[in-house]
Parts: sequence; structure tokens; C-alpha cells
Amino acid sequence: MSKKAPADDEKFLFVDKDFLNSPMAQADWSAKKLVWVPSEKHGFEAASIKEEHGDEVLVELADNAKKMTVNKDDIQKMNPPKFSKVEDMAELTCLNEASVLHNIRERYFSGLIYTYSGLFCVVVNPYKMLPIYSEKIVDMYKGKKRHEVPPHIYSIADNAYRNMMQDREDQSILCTGESGAGKTENTKKVIQYLAVVASSHKGKKDSSAGELEKQLLQANPILEAFGNAKTIKNDNSSRFGKFIRINFDVTGYIVGANIETYLLEKSRCIRQAKTERAFHIFYYMIAGVKDKQREELLLEPFSNYRFLSSGHVQIPGQQDDEMYEETMEAMSIMGLTEEERLDILKVCSTVMQLGNIEYKKERNQEQATMPDNTAAQKVCHLQGINVTDFTRAMLTPRIKVGREVVQKAQTKEQADFATEALAKAVFERLFRWILARVNKTLDKTKRQGASFLGILDIAGFEIFEDNSFEQLCINYTNEKLQQLFNHTMFILEQEEYQREGIEWNFIDFGLDLQPCIELIERPNNPPGILALLDEECWFPKATDISFVEKLLNTQGNHVKFAKTKQLKDKTEFSIFHYAGRVDYNATAWLTKNMDPLNDNVTSLLSSSSSQFVQDLWKDTDRVVGLDTLAKMTDSSMPSTSKTKKGMFRTVGQLYKESLAKLMTTLHNTQPNFVRCIIPNHEKRAGKLDAHLVLEQLRCNGVLEGIRICRQGFPNRIVFQEFRQRYEILAANAIPKGFMDGKQACILMIKHLDLDPNLYRIGQSSGQRLPGQKGICQETTAAHS
Ligand code: ADP
Ligand code: MG
Repeated sequence: MSKKAPADDEKFLFVDKDFLNSPMAQADWSAKKLVWVPSEKHGFEAASIKEEHGDEVLVELADNAKKMTVNKDDIQKMNPPKFSKVEDMAELTCLNEASVLHNIRERYFSGLIYTYSGLFCVVVNPYKMLPIYSEKIVDMYKGKKRHEVPPHIYSIADNAYRNMMQDREDQSILCTGESGAGKTENTKKVIQYLAVVASSHKGKKDSSAGELEKQLLQANPILEAFGNAKTIKNDNSSRFGKFIRINFDVTGYIVGANIETYLLEKSRCIRQAKTERAFHIFYYMIAGVKDKQREELLLEPFSNYRFLSSGHVQIPGQQDDEMYEETMEAMSIMGLTEEERLDILKVCSTVMQLGNIEYKKERNQEQATMPDNTAAQKVCHLQGINVTDFTRAMLTPRIKVGREVVQKAQTKEQADFATEALAKAVFERLFRWILARVNKTLDKTKRQGASFLGILDIAGFEIFEDNSFEQLCINYTNEKLQQLFNHTMFILEQEEYQREGIEWNFIDFGLDLQPCIELIERPNNPPGILALLDEECWFPKATDISFVEKLLNTQGNHVKFAKTKQLKDKTEFSIFHYAGRVDYNATAWLTKNMDPLNDNVTSLLSSSSSQFVQDLWKDTDRVVGLDTLAKMTDSSMPSTSKTKKGMFRTVGQLYKESLAKLMTTLHNTQPNFVRCIIPNHEKRAGKLDAHLVLEQLRCNGVLEGIRICRQGFPNRIVFQEFRQRYEILAANAIPKGFMDGKQACILMIKHLDLDPNLYRIGQSSGQRLPGQKGICQETTAAHS
């Protein structure tokens, strides 16, 4: 390491090792017999061993000299100080939870947010701007191997890019983590990096070349305006998952891109928790649209819209009117015409206005009425449909019953439900339209890329107080992603063992997850949860309760399935996911899975006088209509069950299919795993809640990865170092004079009479290459 004082930005990348390597620190660690003991406050605390009696150990806490007795099994070994703040935790002599947490924490407090853990890159949200994303830093990472530079998302991106170029193998970068952990920020950094690196590669500099990169960078602000919102956890929370695929030609130049999205939380358009917001775009436009256009869009003040539950909730440090300008600018760079932009805003205005339609229940009558149709008029004006037709469609729609068509008056509840469902569907279709439009621009070259690099930004495992259908979908996804990780790791570990000539029977740890995945996705014999839910949706008189009853009957004995312990509701059941037990509540799952819409209104919309609205609704055959809805909400309706089964796809089915497609894509890539960690729930810089972090490390598979490693030989030391460290224990074993490192180690081990099951001797020697180490031993003798 150079003696020169590090530049300001480098402090946030390089470790200052001078103190750590000092002989004093080393001596201190050995003399005190330092270990980790569990701690309420810090997760683990350093302590020194004083006495040992069988399973009981007396320790003295390093911090305050307090003495306590702990069980031997609760103690975790501490690494020698020279490993402090290691960049790759796979190198730790002692690989355990305490050391992993300690290392991440130490680095975090030194401003080092990225750390590797074998295949993973772990990143802790700093909650403040760090000077590590500048052009200078991009340059620093260009073309560098992973171990030549400090851990960084740029290094992941660069290595993926180089591997893609070299091996012609498609790549993927998978960012997961809980909301607010930094997935989207890191995804953006990958794109920013590639936009610079991959365009500087191009041979000829034609003007259209830079444009595509510019457009690629603008895709995010557009999607964020329509798909992100302020939540308690994150001021800019993505309410959908996405997979961005960037295509490159043989020379490494970006030729196009394509974005796929997953599970937009559309219910956010109609309802938000206190202090949360609906999607950004609503606030942007109310704050930002001016004068004439304001009138054209029939915009009203924030407080007029019932769907914006908390009025104008502000985002600290952000002006909604400025964001409006930025969004419009981004859409214009993306090639959206002024007309298209206006059409989009009209639809947004419609969604908000739908919330202002009020239905009344007439005295002595079941039937709903609409005493004031001002809001309905505005909706119809914006959507280019006739207001009388619209009102009739909402209040007395025509419904197919068997072969007959009858006009059926709606109750207030039914009309309210249908209006909310319509608002959600309108917005979802708009979101999909925008996505398709963005893809049209990004894919315009239509040139077949030679290979691609995909970036996945999707919610990690969720265990909430209330877990519904959405959590099942996201947890199902994470089971699959973890399976991919375990499988990849298994393949790589096995390859390294083979290279080292080490005998070991690994089993594919991906298989560990298969039972839970089967429980969810199995189509039949017996059907899994999603298939059973589909069946119930088509079954006359089925309810959420009958669905769960069936589930208990068919899957009751499944090892990953259980009745919820303290059953409050007959709609509850539990699944043992790899990240832990999750209690689900199936209330409203039948409706969520069917997603029914008033098809009288949707057919009106599909023949709107506006071409744009027509386009949004051209595939109305996907709509699960009112007759199905009536069947589910009104038991007096005769059932039309089964008649339409072949035509529709349920939400669960569609999700399962898009996930299967994603997994096939990912399986054909070389994956790179980025685990994003939220340090605290207060959005605060410089604060790390140890238990919160440990919990995430457990859920995101980092600790699971270590567990798998530990089944083999996770602690690896090069021959030379092994000899230096332990020669003293086998002083007489090695003859005087020169001896090859490996030979010396073999003699030492023989002399020590170690159990041959506990170690293996590898092949690579001398200069250590990444991932190649001389000796693998399961137990570490570091403390003896
Ligand atoms: P997620 O997508 O995981 O929900 P985000 O990527 O939106 O989380 O991050 C939430 C917020 O945390 C961001 O808006 C930003 O303020 C902050 N943040 C995340 N990562 C970084 C980073 N690397 N540097 C600075 N701030 C960050
Ligand atoms: Mg996000």
C-alpha cells in the first residue's frame, strides 16, 4: 500500500490497514483469547475466555470487563485482527455469523459499504451521498478484476461485462433486499456504469450511438414516476419488480434494451397508509401542470381527490413541480410525442377522478344511485365515452346468466368495488402501455445483440404482520432465486474442489428448496397452493375459507406446510420458507386471483373516441367480467362456473408463468448476487441495528451460503502461511534446510495426528490466486 495519504473518495473504498496489522493488535488478540458472545444490544460482543468447565465458559466482556457464563455452543470464534475489515469474507479464517456481522459493521462505520461474501456482494445503505460514484471512480474500475480493486457495484458490473465479452456468456446481476435497502440505487449505478463503459468501446462515433445510452438512462425516471411512491420505509419505493436486459453486440457496444416488470402494487392508486403517497406522477402533475393544460386535464387541488388519502404529502428535499418537468423531459428524450404525453396525463387524471364518483343507497332500496354525476362527467370527458352509457354500465350493467343476458342493479358496495377495480385496472394498463412504449424505443435498433446483461431489482423475502397473496408471490420468487444461488454455489464449489483434487461428496443444496417450491407451484397430484386457488376460483360458491379448508386437506401433511399456531381466522395457514415460518391470511385471495372488472365499462372504453384509450383496452377478452364477480360476491346469482375457464388466466397463473420465464432466462446466465441491507428503519446515516442486519443476512441467504460452505472445507490457508502459523506446534516434524511448503504441511499434519476427516490438502501453491488456496481444513486451530 502506498504511503501517500488517500484522496477523499478513496477513504470510502480502501481499508486503512496500518493499525490492524500492527504486532500489538495481534498480540492482544492471542493473549486475551478473544471470542464472540451473543449480545442483546450488539448482536455479538467481544469477550475473553477466562475459564472453561465442560460446556460452561466464563468470559469477560471486552467492553466493560463484566464477567458472565455462557454455553460453549453459543461462543463463536474471533478472527485474528489482520482480517479486520476484509474485503471478501470468504477469506476469513473463522467463518461464522458473529464475524460476518462484525466485519460488515466495522466496514460500514469506516464508510465502506460494499463487502464480498464469496459469491455475494453485500451492500449496506449508507443513507448519505458518498463520493464513490464519480467519473474518476468509474475509470478506476474499468477492466479491473474483482480482487484488484475494492468491493464496489462497479466491479460487479465490470466483471460481468468482461465475462460476457470474453466467454460470450450472458450475465445477470440480481439485486435483492427489503424495501429501502438500496436495490434500485444500485441497479441505477450498474446502468450508469455500463452506459459509460460500453459506449466508450464503440469503434465509430455516429450521433445516434449516444442517444440510446441517454434513453436507457431516462427509462428509470419514467418508470419511477409511474411505479414508485413514498412509503414509511422509503421515500422513493419501487412498487413493482423489474428485470432490465441490456443487449450488446460482439464489440461490446449497447445495441438495445428491454425491461420487464413484475407485480405492480396497483391498489396504491386508491388507498395509502397514513403519511404514504400514491404513485409519484399524481403529485407531480397536480403540482406541475400549468394554466391551459390544467384545464384541459380537469385537474383539481390535492384536497379534492379522495384517492389521495393524505392530500399533498411532501417528500423532503424534492419539489413535485420540478419532478414533473423532469418526467416530461425524460419522456420526450424517450421519444414520446406531446400528444402521447397528454394522453397519459389524461388517464392519470381519470384515475384520480374515479375516486370522486359517489354512489348512494336509496332508502328502502338495495339499489345504488349516483345523485351527482359531475365526477362521472369528468371521467367520461377524459376517456372519450358517453356519460349515460357509463352510468348505466356502473349502476345497472347487463350480466350474462347462463345463456341469458339480464340487467342487474348493483348495490352501493358492488358499484364502489367496481369503480375501485376500474381505477386500478386503468392505471395498470397505463403502466403497461408506458413500459411497452419505452421498450419500443429501447429496442428500436432491432439488431440482434450478441449477448446480454440483465439486472434484476426485486423485493426480497417478506415476513410481515399480515401476509397476503402479494407476499406469497414475492416469497415464492425468493425461494426460486435462492435455489438458483444455492445451485450456482454448489457448482462453483464443486469445481474448485475438483481443481484442488479434493475428494468430497457435495449434494446440490438447491434441492433443499424444492419441497417448498413444489408446495406453491405444483400443478397437480396433489395440486399446490396456486393451482388449488385457481380451482376454487372456478368452483361455485367457493370462498376464501373453503380454499384454505381444501388446502389443509390436500397439503396438511406437507413438511413445509402447517396450520397457523394461534388461529384467529379460518383463512390462515403457514409456510416454512427457507427464511423462516410465514403466517399467511387468505382473505380476499379469490378476488385477488381473479381480479374481476365491470366488463360493461371496459367494452365502452375499448370503443372510446380516443385512440389512446382504445389501445389501452383492446384486449378486453382478458377481463374477468361481472358475472364471475357476481358469483363471488352474491350467492343468489346462479353460477356460470367453468364456462370461461379456458379463456382467462388468473393472476397467480400469469405470475407463475412470468416467473418461470425469468428463471429460465437467469439459468442461462452467469449470475452475480447483490444483497442490499437496510441498516436501520429510520433512514439514518451512521446507525446500524445489529439484529435487523442479522435478520436480513439470514433471509437473504448470506448466512445460508456460509452454512453450505461449512459442510465442506470453508477455511483455507495457503501452505506458506499454514507453516508459519503452526510450525511451533510441530517443531520437530520438519527437517532443517529448505523444504517445499506443501511437503512441510503434510509432515506437520502427520506429526499432529489430525483426524483425516477434518482437513484436505489441495494442489495450488505459492502465489495465491483468487479462489485457489493450498490447504482446506474444516476446523481451525487458530486459537490453540
Ligand atoms: P430499494 O429499491 O431497495 O427499496 P432504494 O434503492 O430506493 O431502495 O434506496 C432507498 C433510499 O436509500 C434512496 O432513495 C437513497 O436515499 C438511499 N440510498 C440507497 N442506496 C444508496 C447509496 N448507495 N448511496 C446513497 N444513498 C443511498
Ligand atoms: Mg426500489
